[in-house]
Amino acid sequence: MEEKAIEILNILTENGYEAYIVGGYPRDKALGIKTNDIDICTSATPKEILGFFDNVKVPDMQYGSVVIFYKGYKYDVTTFRKEIKYEDNRRPIKIKYIKNLKKDLLRRDFTINTLCINKDGEIIDVLGIKDDLVNKILRTVGNPKYRIKEDALRILRCIRFATILDFDIDSKTKHYLTKYSYLLKKLSMNRKKEELDKIFMSPNKGKGINLLIGLNLTNVLDINNLSRIVPCMDIIGMWCQLDVDDIYPFTKVEKEHMCLLRELLAYDEIDNYLLYKYGLYLCTVYADIKGLSKRKLNTMYQNLAIKSKKDIVVSSSDIPKILNKKPGGYIKSIIDDIEKKILNNELENDYDILKTYILNSY
Ligand code: ATP
Ligand code: MG
Repeated sequence: MEEKAIEILNILTENGYEAYIVGGYPRDKALGIKTNDIDICTSATPKEILGFFDNVKVPDMQYGSVVIFYKGYKYDVTTFRKEIKYEDNRRPIKIKYIKNLKKDLLRRDFTINTLCINKDGEIIDVLGIKDDLVNKILRTVGNPKYRIKEDALRILRCIRFATILDFDIDSKTKHYLTKYSYLLKKLSMNRKKEELDKIFMSPNKGKGINLLIGLNLTNVLDINNLSRIVPCMDIIGMWCQLDVDDIYPFTKVEKEHMCLLRELLAYDEIDNYLLYKYGLYLCTVYADIKGLSKRKLNTMYQNLAIKSKKDIVVSSSDIPKILNKKPGGYIKSIIDDIEKKILNNELENDYDILKTYILNSY
């Protein structure tokens, strides 16, 4: 993917423009991390870019970014710009295209996000920030007093990078994360959730959780339960413990899973019946949160006598025939009864055995 991106850089350069891979990709490459997301910056404007590539999508001309689909990959390409004025502590309301890479790098959020890769595939460090990368420090480009205030999303991006990359946050930057945390109120819940998702999904989430608590951000983010959370691998397992189903955006299925998981978590242990009723996925999240063996749970699931009602060898239509009665509401209670007994290994899932049991009990 990098090779193809270099081809894009060469096409733009041959046409008299400057172009570099910038941001996350060079940062991660310098850290030895593989990524599949390549951002390109260039002195060519979106209109000019349209002239050099066949498959270009222009999502928002106003913000000077285009997406180039090139040889099977997708690249975000952004024109060098200066951001003039910020609105609502989030988006610049005015941008100005510029021809100078260094100035473009100066408007970026953190020093480690300003590394570039040039058309020869070399990493270049125009702002001289290598030490931050080596020392694992997250620091705003320029004074955090202004850089955090002008775009409050940077607060969460900062914590996200500190978490995922396991970096420390420079103390002055840290100070302003808390100082301007009230501005997080203005951000869309969607954007906040995207960042929190990434923090909560990181294997290093413990660090992110400590930062969110330590920097006093939980209140403004409506995640006060965070101090009581038991970290788990599953993102729904994390959100479920925060009780913010109606505050943050979730799909219907996610909301259902959170409700069921909360129901399940109220039980002290998982038996065959709960495993059958709630299914392996939710029970695995339960096991993760309660610190139980997932392997044991898997074995228990594989050994369940039935996995769904369809597996019961006596069907709802068999029951009236067995009892020689007209169909009615009683069928469901008999099915529920034998289902439980089969799961508890009190009855074998065998037609004759079930028939005898039904005849003797009903
Ligand atoms: P990742 O792709 O791993 O999430 P990234 O650093 O590439 O991390 P993107 O959101 O893809 O992040 O942004 C690409 C680059 O654009 C960043 O590296 C940074 O230089 C710049 N950038 C992104 N968001 C902001 C922002 N809110 N303020 C300033 N610069 C930003
Ligand atoms: Mg990126």
